[in-house]
Amino acid sequence: MPSMSDDVLVFQDEPAQGAPAKTSTQGWTILIVDDDPDVHEATIFSLSGLSIHGRPLRFVSAYSAAEARRLLEQDDQVAVILLDVVMEDEQSGLTLVRVIRDELALDEVRIILRTGQPGYAPEMDVIRDYDINDYKCKTEFSRTRLYSTLTTALRTYAQLRALKISQQGLERIINASGKLMSEHGWHEFSLGVIKQVTGLLQLDPQGLVCAYRPQQDHDGLRGAAQVLAATGRFRGLEQQQLQALPHPDLVPVIQRGLERGQHVFDEDHLLLVFTTSQGSELAVYLDKPRPLDETERQLLQVFCSNLEVCFENLSIFQQLEDFAYRDQRVGLPNRIAFERHLASETLPAGYRLSLVDIDDFGRFTDTLGSQVGDALLRQVARRLRSELPEAIFIGRIDGDQFGLLGPAEQLVPERVTACFDRPFEVEGQRIVLTVTQGFVDVSQPGGDALRQAGLALKRAKVERRTGALAFSDDMQTDAQRQVQMLQRLRGALGKKQLFLAFQPQVTLQDGSLLGFEALLRWRDDDGQMVPPDQFIPLAESSGLIVGLGEWVARTAFATLAQLQARYRREFRMAINVSIVQFCHPDFRAQLHDCQVSAGVKPEQIELEITESLLMARDKGVLELLEDLADEGFRIAIDDFGTGYSSLRYLADLPIHQLKIDRSFVAPIVNEHSKTTLPDMIQRLGHELGLSVLAEGVETQVQADYLRRMGCLEAQGYMFARPMPLAELCDWLDARLGSQE
Ligand code: C2E
Ligand code: MG
Ligand code: MG
Repeated sequence: MPSMSDDVLVFQDEPAQGAPAKTSTQGWTILIVDDDPDVHEATIFSLSGLSIHGRPLRFVSAYSAAEARRLLEQDDQVAVILLDVVMEDEQSGLTLVRVIRDELALDEVRIILRTGQPGYAPEMDVIRDYDINDYKCKTEFSRTRLYSTLTTALRTYAQLRALKISQQGLERIINASGKLMSEHGWHEFSLGVIKQVTGLLQLDPQGLVCAYRPQQDHDGLRGAAQVLAATGRFRGLEQQQLQALPHPDLVPVIQRGLERGQHVFDEDHLLLVFTTSQGSELAVYLDKPRPLDETERQLLQVFCSNLEVCFENLSIFQQLEDFAYRDQRVGLPNRIAFERHLASETLPAGYRLSLVDIDDFGRFTDTLGSQVGDALLRQVARRLRSELPEAIFIGRIDGDQFGLLGPAEQLVPERVTACFDRPFEVEGQRIVLTVTQGFVDVSQPGGDALRQAGLALKRAKVERRTGALAFSDDMQTDAQRQVQMLQRLRGALGKKQLFLAFQPQVTLQDGSLLGFEALLRWRDDDGQMVPPDQFIPLAESSGLIVGLGEWVARTAFATLAQLQARYRREFRMAINVSIVQFCHPDFRAQLHDCQVSAGVKPEQIELEITESLLMARDKGVLELLEDLADEGFRIAIDDFGTGYSSLRYLADLPIHQLKIDRSFVAPIVNEHSKTTLPDMIQRLGHELGLSVLAEGVETQVQADYLRRMGCLEAQGYMFARPMPLAELCDWLDARLGSQE
């Protein structure tokens, strides 16, 4: 038989770890099982009015083993059973003990066996195997004795109960952690936490707010705490800022908790706070309908340390995801995220995808530096977000291109453009931006919307700047045709389908020959001539122009050398140089190589560049231009007047010639025609000491007009069309006399 005094000592010396909270009003249920009604009465009488461990006693009576069994099957609150051994038969008390432990599996309930027959001892193994607290003759139970036996039994019961709860709790924690580990989104994770914590404490899963303060955002400011999940009386507060919650009593508590990074378990609040090594914070607030006992607090502690691991893991996962799906510079979802959203979201009908591209953005980054450029992009993102609140998704698709997704009737081009009406302010500079848009109405998720909007944008850029275009089916066919054309163009050089045509440049004074412009020609597989206006942009956008351009330079310079030798005089040869080509790191070396191997002088070579190359005001570009001009190469600005050159800085550039675009020459139909542009360009050139050449001169009227204006040089069908070399030689033979 276990020593009762030992038992008492052990538990009395220990702090009331497993003991129930003092404030509990719940009583202890004592079941008296005895076939003698007097025993019931006497027991209740002797214990009446007493409380043990701060809780009153509640008595339940059974007069037979069978009745006791029924009672126990229904009432799981019984803490101690005072059990008579001999009732219906000699063994009925002991049989009931076996039933309680084996069948009903009530392990915590304490059993005190009483017998009316002194000297009758139950089998020792029953006491050992069935966890009997005491075995005494009824007469031995004085009031004090009964009280102290009950006190010990109840303490043990409370401890076993607490252990059981914590064991269940630990199981729940392990389960919960497993579940939370597999959550990949903040919302689900937060809801999971609410569910698991309330489950653990056996509270209603209600009245809980999770707030999360993300790490510093891109402006270096600490993000505001936001509600990630809310249930019960907090329902509906999701996504709101903590500050704005309609719970003035609660906000400061959560805020203080977040600031201190500490849990709060006080009388009124239950707030759990978690911090990751990267500094993200999560606060879990629960309404507390009842005080927590010591076991629950301890469980909560264990749970919190487990939760912290889950939170850390999720943060890392989220960070990785952030890297993959968020543009780190601007802090917006990136292209992949945008595509994912488009594919996954079942977009309601009437949604529109709009691509917004900042015009000439490169100009700002080139002149103001990439940091200012980034800050500018961030401002654009912020502006779009605040002025187009109905856009459900905004992302940075590419460099200076943003994607918007929203209801079609709201996402009209005018509204998007209006976002750019006010200038942006970056580092004290006011910057005005214009944009081009391409948009498409999204018919189904996972479709081609992004690509279609991209095509519309591309077309919008080509056709009219600072405009917007909706996608149409012909763009699709166009795009397909272009892809095919590009494939054919790749093979063209090898198949010797490319050749140069040379168009003479002459003086307007007497038509004497100055030189030639080399123009690329392509006769494709079917023998059809493909106009350069079609294949040059394609070669530019694919980078193919770099190789093609080198071939043009090599062929043109070699031809120049050949012609000079043949006609024993000097000409100049103009070649067109695309921006892509000019900016290519190998351009300078290639140019030199072509020039040197042809054995012609740089002074005889004219490089036709476009205004947009100068627009960028790129330091490297300008330096290269200076260097080339210093070496003697002539620089001409092609199609002058169609671009956006600020005429002011032309004076500083190492340029030799302005070529008046033929669109300004065409309107000259008679001598009274009013075309101010050629005149302006002519005067500008004169002032800056540049030669001016008029392109596309087709008629005598035009030639006379231009000559009167003071223009000295021209090129056009009136003098000669661009001609392949053989034809050019005939033309030259006729003019300069055959050299054969
Ligand atoms: P561009 O450099 O302005 O070339 C002048 C264009 O005007 C040529 O068109 C020429 O054939 C055309 N043209 C010349 N005189 C007249 C005229 O009296 N009336 C009319 N209506 N047109 C005239 P083309 O050859 O079709 O070339 C178009 C554009 O393609 C060129 O414009 C140039 O920007 C580009 N391009 C041509 N060859 C090359 C090349 O080798 N490299 C690069 N990067 N671009 C090239
Ligand atoms: Mg040209
Ligand atoms: Mg031109």
